[in-house]
Formats: sequence, structure tokens, C-alpha cells
Amino acid sequence: MSTIEVAGAKVDTRHWINGERVGSVETFTNTSPIDGTFLGEISRGGQAEAEAAVAAAKTAFPAWAALGPKGRGEILHRIADLVEANIETLAMLETMDNGSLLRSHRRGVMPRVALNMRFFADWAINELHHEAFETRGHTNNISWDPSGVAALITPWNAPLMLATWKIGPALAAGDTVVLKPAEWTPLSASFFADLTKQAGLPDGVFNVIQGFGREVGAALVANPDLSRISFTGSVPTAKVIARSAAENLTPVSFELGGKSPCIVLEDADLDLAVTLAVEQYDNAGQVCLSGTRILVHENIADAFAEKFREKALQIKQGDPRDEATDIGPQIHQVHFDRIKGFVDRAKAEGQDFVMGGEPNEELGGLYFKPTLVKNPTPGSEIVTAEVFGPVLCMQTFASDEEAVAMANGTEFGLAAILVSGNRERASKVSKQLVAGTIWVNCFFVRDLKAPFGGSRKSGIGREGGTWSFDFYADVKNTVVSPTGWKE
Ligand code: ADP
Repeated sequence: MSTIEVAGAKVDTRHWINGERVGSVETFTNTSPIDGTFLGEISRGGQAEAEAAVAAAKTAFPAWAALGPKGRGEILHRIADLVEANIETLAMLETMDNGSLLRSHRRGVMPRVALNMRFFADWAINELHHEAFETRGHTNNISWDPSGVAALITPWNAPLMLATWKIGPALAAGDTVVLKPAEWTPLSASFFADLTKQAGLPDGVFNVIQGFGREVGAALVANPDLSRISFTGSVPTAKVIARSAAENLTPVSFELGGKSPCIVLEDADLDLAVTLAVEQYDNAGQVCLSGTRILVHENIADAFAEKFREKALQIKQGDPRDEATDIGPQIHQVHFDRIKGFVDRAKAEGQDFVMGGEPNEELGGLYFKPTLVKNPTPGSEIVTAEVFGPVLCMQTFASDEEAVAMANGTEFGLAAILVSGNRERASKVSKQLVAGTIWVNCFFVRDLKAPFGGSRKSGIGREGGTWSFDFYADVKNTVVSPTGWKE
């Protein structure tokens, strides 16, 4: 059966190529991380499917590009309307597929998915301008032209949200798209494809291929007909994709991992600091931006730790469909074992686990308890590697200089959270932090106008506002001479 029913919603589990469903002979099994429920068999694509999708996108490109920002924008707004009309279904599908909270999908994530389409459609129409300027009487006119076929490779931790951060600007820029969602979360992309058809998106402009990264993903990024590759995922996978892209000199945009600091200065509002620190367990720690290294001034460390423990122990772990639940399960047994491996190795090293450090036996399955490691040995794996689970480390510092050195002391640079009661001090410290986004006395405030991305090994390039179009479009300068005109 190629159509499955998940919580009342019908989802086709085949690829979406050239406005049609295309199946593969082979399939793979998709289960829900909530309780291991079998969800369905999904088409397992490879070289042939990747080639067919890119060919369809290539054929559809000239007409889509010629439609212009206004024509494209109308269709993108219709897609957004349909997302809004289907928020309940999309929210439930995503929760069943990846185990994150139904309440946040309903109220935050899916409305944001619609906004991702609207925002970039409008930005292309209204904001994508650069003042023309003169060079010795010649006029420089800057434009953002469609570039071709964009391959989008997305992860499982916020599937449709992260996919539409890319789909929105790529389509608005006039590119056509081949999306490869993560194999652990194939459903929302498939349902979204149906919405694009209903919205009147021409066949071949948006394609979805399902399957494993090493199979259909690898075949996709090696395709010489791509104009762009945008990837969100892990550093090792980014290196593999970069090698493949290098063969064809395909430009890449990478949003990768992090081991971000959450710095609590001595003058911080302690309650605010604790609230922000405990939020780092959100989505069961499966957030690339998480401030998983909590750095606290030594004079307030004991008071902070006590309050933190008190608040963190109130986190309600359970079924993500339950309104009262704060964090759900990890995504998959493979990932669960990866997290447990980090924790077990840290235990073997004698690290100090003051909270959690084990699966939640009461719930069983893929539920891992919120965990805190106090004063881990500097340089040890638990404080340098991205765990991507509900595992935080707490370390202390004696001065702002030391805090900055510790904060910057990893190979990553995605985000940093800074909590301070003094604007001048916060400004001085934040200027010294190496990260794409610094949140001062807040977390997760993200405007689509703002640049988003990582420094160092956390990524290549920035997304958001014009930065997205700088990537997806071919930026062109047309220099017009004052002479040679016959009219
Ligand atoms: P994780 O290890 O957490 O699953 P990955 O970075 O491996 O994260 O996966 C993110 C996305 O990259 C997924 O859609 C996955 O299928 C895809 N992917 C994995 N390996 C490759 C590859 N060699 N080429 C293209 N895509 C890949």
C-alpha cells in the first residue's frame, strides 16, 4: 500500500516527482518514536529516483524562473494558506513521526511553516533591491536571478520547519527544488507535496525523494545538474556532501551542529538564567542551537545549581501528544544508543552526574532522562562533542575573560546565550563571542529577516532575508554605459 493513514491523515509514502507519485521497488520501515508503532513502508530511492527528480526540476526551471517574483509569490501564498488549513493534520503527522511536542507543532511550528513561505515570497517582491550606483557615469544595477535546481537535504529534528526555511527562499528566488527529507521523518514532506499540487505549483517545480542519505541523498548531491546544495545536518555528513559538491563546483550552504555555551555572569538575574538553562532540554535536546554547555560564575554556581535542579526535576517527560508533556522521546533507537554511549563513556571516566544519566525506565522505549554533568574534565568528550540529546554540562569560571575563553573553546560557533544584568558588560562579552547568533537574556528569538548560520565548523553561509537570496539566486550586476545609445 502506498497510502498510509496516520492519526486520520492519509499520506502517500512514494516519491513526488514531476507532480506525480512514483514508487520504488524497495521500501524501508517507518515507526513512531513515541511507542514504536509501525507507521508504514516508505519508498527507498536511489540513483534512478534522484536523476528523475533533478531532470523534472531542470525541465520545470525556465517557466518557473520566467514567472517572476509576483507570479511565484501568489502560488507560495496559496501553499501557505493550505498549510494553515491543515495545521492540525501536519502537527499530528510530525509528532507521530519525530516525537516532538504536539502542542508546539500546533501553536508554533506549523504556523511558522506557513510564514516561511509567505515571508520569502514577500521578501522577493518587496525587499530584494539594491540601490543602483554610478561608476564614472556608468550605472550598476544589481539583480537576483534564478539559478537553477536546488537540492535541499534536511534533518529529522524539526522536519517541515527546517525544510521550508529552504523551500521558501529557493522557490521565491525562482529555483526549482528537489527535497530529500531525513529517512527517520519522511511524512510531513510527503503531505506538503500534495499541498503544493493543490496550490497550483507547476509540476516539477517541487520534488521530494525519500530514502537513505547514503543512497538517494548521495546520488542527489553528486548530480551535475544542480545549481545549489543546501544542507542542514551533522559535520561528518557535511564533509561527505562537500566532497561530492566539489566535483561539480556546486555551491553549498551548510547549517551544522553546535556545542553552544549558555553563559551566566555573576550579575545575572538568577531566575531568568535558570529558566533559560532549563529550556536547553527542549525537543529532548535535539536542537542544533542548544546551549548545552552551561558556564556559571563560581560565586553563584551553588545557588544556580540548586535552582536548576529544582526546576529541571519538574520537567514532565512523556507522550508528546499530551498537552502537559514538556519533553518526549529521542527520535530513533540508533540515536538513543548514540546518546547513551556518550553518557556511559562519561560515567566510565568518572564524570559527576548530578541528574539523570540514564534512560527513563518508567516510560521505557526511547525516553532518556534530562541529564546534567557537573564540572566535566576540560577537554573530555562530553563537554566537546555534540550529543544532540537531553545532556547538559555545567562548568564554572572566575572572570569574564575566562568565560569568553571557555565559550569559544570548541570547534563550533553556532549560537551562544548570555545572561547578565548589565548592558555594557553584556555588550563587551558578546562582542568577543564567536557564533552566528548571540542571545542576550533570551533564547530562540528568530526573525526571518535576521542572518542565521554558524561560524567555524557550525556551517558555511547564512540564511534569512536577503542572505537566503544571496545563496539561492545568481546575483548579477549589469553595468550600463552612458554612451552608445541611438534613441
Ligand atoms: P544524523 O546523523 O543526525 O542523522 P545527518 O547529517 O547524517 O544527521 O543527516 C541529515 C540529512 O542528511 C538526512 O536527510 C540524511 O539522510 C542526509 N544524508 C546523510 N548522509 C548523506 C550523504 N552521504 N549524502 C547526502 N545526504 C546525506
